[in-house]
Parts: sequence; C-alpha cells; structure tokens
Amino acid sequence: MDNAMKSVYDSVLARDPDQPEFHQAVEEVLDSLDPVIEANPEYIDVVRAMVEPERVIQFRVPWYDDDGNLHVNRGFRVQFNSAIGPYKGGLRFHPSVNLSILKFLGFEQVFKNSLTGLPMGGGKGGSDFDPKGKSDSEVKRFCQSFMMELWRHIGADLDVPAGDIGVGGREIGYLFGMYRKLANEFTGVLTGKGRSYGGSRIRPEATGYGLVYFAREMLSTKDKSFDGATVAISGSGNVAQFACEKVIELGGKPVTMSDSSGYIYDPTGIDREKLDWIMDLKNNRRGRMKEYAEHFDGVDYTESKPEPNLNQMWSTKVDVALPCATQNELNGDEAKMLVDGGVTAVAEGANMPCTPDAVDCFLLNGVMFAPGKASNAGGVATSGLEMSQNSIRMSWSREEVDQKLEGIMVNVHKTAHETAERYGMPGNYVAGANIAGFLKVAESTMAQGIL
Ligand code: NDP
Repeated sequence: MDNAMKSVYDSVLARDPDQPEFHQAVEEVLDSLDPVIEANPEYIDVVRAMVEPERVIQFRVPWYDDDGNLHVNRGFRVQFNSAIGPYKGGLRFHPSVNLSILKFLGFEQVFKNSLTGLPMGGGKGGSDFDPKGKSDSEVKRFCQSFMMELWRHIGADLDVPAGDIGVGGREIGYLFGMYRKLANEFTGVLTGKGRSYGGSRIRPEATGYGLVYFAREMLSTKDKSFDGATVAISGSGNVAQFACEKVIELGGKPVTMSDSSGYIYDPTGIDREKLDWIMDLKNNRRGRMKEYAEHFDGVDYTESKPEPNLNQMWSTKVDVALPCATQNELNGDEAKMLVDGGVTAVAEGANMPCTPDAVDCFLLNGVMFAPGKASNAGGVATSGLEMSQNSIRMSWSREEVDQKLEGIMVNVHKTAHETAERYGMPGNYVAGANIAGFLKVAESTMAQGIL
C-alpha cells in the first residue's frame, strides 16, 4: 500500500485499535486501490471518508425468557455508506456479534452493493443474541424488543435490513410484524420476507445460487465447469444449502457440509434426496450435521476442534471449494491443504471466510479465487429486486427473478474480471471487485460533495 493509503490505514488502527475484523477488511480493500489513487489522486479524500461509517446506532434489547428471567442483549445498526442508495445489508444474531464484526460486514457491503449495479448503499446490523436453543416465543419476544428501537432508524427509502447468520424467514417475519405495528405502515422496509407478505421468489435461494453462477463463470474462463466436479461446501445454513442445490443441478458432486460442531464427508456425494433431508434437519428440526452421518451409510463425521487444530474438512480432495459458514473459517494452512489436494477454484459464499494468508496461498498457487463481496452478491442483489417489486406492488415469477439474478451475477463476474485486467492484474478478482465497487461510490461521493 502506498504512503497516502498507509496513513489512512494507520488512522483506522489508531482510532479503533480493538476492531481486528474491521482492520482486516479495510486493509484488503486499501491494498487493491493503489493504482486507482495513482490515476485519480483526488480520490484519497473519498477513501479517508469511506473508512468511517456515516452513522452507528447501538441500543439495549431487553427480553424475557419462557421462565420469566430478564436478559439484556446489545443491538446495533451500522449505516456505513448511502452515496449510491439507501443503506442495505443484513442483520446477524450470533453471540460473537460486536462492532468490529458489523463494521467489517458493513464496509464490505458498500463495495458489494455497488458491484451489483443496483442503487443500494451499504449497512449491517444485528445483536449478540443467540437464537440457538431458544423457543419460538423467546425468539419472537427478542425480535419485537429489537425492533422497538430499530424501527425509528430504518425505512424503505432510508435503510432496508435483511437476514444474515441467525436471521432467517422466521426472524424477518417477527421483525416485519413489529415494524408494521410501530410505524403504522406497510412498506418494503425489510427484505427476505415471506412470500405471502411481500417477499420475492428466489430470495432464500439467491445467495447460494448466485455463488454458483459466479463460480461457473469463473471456471468457464479456464474451460472448466461444475459437471462432474467434486465440491467441498462448509456450513449448512441458508447459503450452504442453496449452493449445494445449484451445484447438484449443474452436475457437480458436493461431498462435505458442516456446522459449528463438526463436518460430514460423504464420498458418494450429497444428492437431491439427501439435501432435502438436510434442509428438513436444519430448517424444521433445527438439528446438527452429526445426525446426517448417523442417518446415512458410509459417511464420516469429524467433530470440530478449536484452533490451532486445522479443520481437516479442507484436506478433502476436491475441484472446487465453497466456504459458506462464517468469517476467517479457512486459514493459510488449510488453504495449503486444498492446494495440495488439487483444488482449481475457491469461491466465498460467506463474508471473508478466507484469511489474508489463505487468499495469498490461492493466488500464489494459481487457484482461481472469488472474494465474497463479488461471489455472494446474489443475495443482496435479489433483495434489491424484492425492493423493486415492493415499490411497484408487483410480484415477479420464479423464472423472471432467477433470470435477473443470473444476469446480475454474470455481470458482476464480467465487471470484476475486466476491471482486474484493465488495472494490470488479470485473474485477480479481489482487486477487480474492490476497484470496480469503489469507483462508482467514489464518483458519486465526489459529485455530491464529501458529506
Ligand atoms: P445461517 O445462519 O443460515 O448459517 C450459518 C452456517 O454457518 C451454519 O451452518 C452455522 O453452524 C455455521 N456457522 C456460523 N458461525 C460459525 C462459526 N463460528 N464456526 C463454524 N460454523 C459456523 O447463515 P447464512 O447461511 O445466511 O450465512 C452464512 C455466511 O454467508 C455468513 O458469512 C453471511 O454473512 C454470508 N452471507 C449471507 C447472505 C444471505 O443472504 N443469507 C448474503 C451474503 C453473505 P451453526 O448452526 O452450528 O452455528
């Protein structure tokens, strides 16, 4: 990174020394932007402004459990950047949630949303509440209390949250119901809604499908495809499930899936029927992947061990790896195991699942690598399509939305690929995505005056 960028980065470190995930996300972007600042030195002021969120809201979320005990969680909304549209980004409910994680996610979201070509700014929010093991009524009471504060800060033209880890259709329903009651209006203020009250077809599938569309485009630049490819998928939530579905549809063979307790390896491949079983396990019975190995023959289950143990899932010999669980789940040593196993392409379904060491390892070894801000943009893009349908009070067919999603992902791939080439870094999707995402926001910020 050049001196001007280094001074921006140093100021980020000095201002919030306790936010390592945010530093990691900022460093990765600033590293890519040197050639842009060289060509447009005036953009350094935009960079200086962009690393600071426009607004951060933090609030108390008190709720009672089924036994009448009071719990007090912390709620957040980081409204990072609205230069090209209303803030847009998910809500995460997970015990690890803090300002560092939400700022990293909000910062990434700014570039991702810009890349989709849709008019959406970037934001992120959530709480350190853990929905795991909670009853439906507890989750409902929590969501209602969370919205009791959040509602005054969001709006269809201001900030439109969606789901993320721990926030699926059930949570969005409770949140939307409470917003509607408090604001006394029915608007498209949240995306990922149920189909019966304004949700878009394909939104649940969008991130996973979009990821596979992107990876398919990336593979095709080297005359490869998913047909007959062996695929490692991590996670077993929303993104992982629908990535698995699309891989199967394209003729690939997913052989691993995981949750925070461990991973399964199914050498015969997860087929349609087995995936239906996983979807029922995870979405209805809220069970663990371990049960898959107990239910199906010939499947290995390995419990996860804390660091410094390596996640052996990544030593599976595969053609494609799709990390779809959480940030920093795949480190440099684990990347090396994938490389040794002959992996051709890695595409991030989760946000920042690969550490900087892992990314370096892939790039140095000629593995095609897609950063989440490009390859998982299908989720937010389809949220954008949900906003459009809500605005015009129309509902598009499954085929129509899927076609638009596919078109957007093909275009995101093309933009990242061509931008990397234009700036002398062919095949470097990290640089291509960061630069292309930045340019649109930078131009808009300059045109409006840096405010
Ligand atoms: P879900 O909550 O549906 O699933 C998350 C999955 O990851 C679960 O299998 C979960 O296991 C696992 N997981 C979560 N935290 C950890 C951890 N610390 N260690 C190991 N495994 C973990 O979330 P999503 O599928 O929606 O999101 C997954 C990733 O994709 C996140 O990074 C999210 O930001 C990103 N993303 C999601 C989008 C969306 O539309 N949903 C859009 C773009 C990106 P367990 O159940 O045991 O916790």
